[in-house]
Amino acid sequence: MSSEVTQANNSIDLVTSRLQKFWKDLKETIPEAELFETKRSNERQSYLYSLGRTRSGEIVTYATAGNSPHNHGLAFDIKNVNFTNREKDIRDLLSKNSDIAWGMDFWRIDTKNKKKVKFPDPAHFQIKNWRSLVPGLNSKIVFPLVAIIGISIYSLRGKRK
Ligand SMILES: [Zn+2]
Repeated sequence: MSSEVTQANNSIDLVTSRLQKFWKDLKETIPEAELFETKRSNERQSYLYSLGRTRSGEIVTYATAGNSPHNHGLAFDIKNVNFTNREKDIRDLLSKNSDIAWGMDFWRIDTKNKKKVKFPDPAHFQIKNWRSLVPGLNSKIVFPLVAIIGISIYSLRGKRK
């Protein structure tokens, strides 16, 4: 296993300019914060996904390769912050950056009982609706939508006759 796959890259140059600006503001508000990870290769995403599944360890992600904003430079993780003590400061900063989502508020659907469960990742920040910024991912969602709307209109027309 090469170190590029097992180790985090924390270069801020690898994220979008919008996130670079947000990091600057975050660092001003919380000077003790340090970058832990910015952009991830698909290979590293696959490695992280394998933890707790095909490799020993805890599950750290539910995103497969290409399906994490980290893979597209649209997220970063920080370290060295006491999130309980700093939550209010972070909330204040987020209120001025409404296009940024905080992992503290994340949830997922439990596969067994289909219920929403909290899945907080307080170290993580990302661009909201990041999928809409990734052409390949976006088209996968848009195409079925267009098809469904098209079929609905067609069947409505049919009923009118
Ligand atoms: Zn993250």
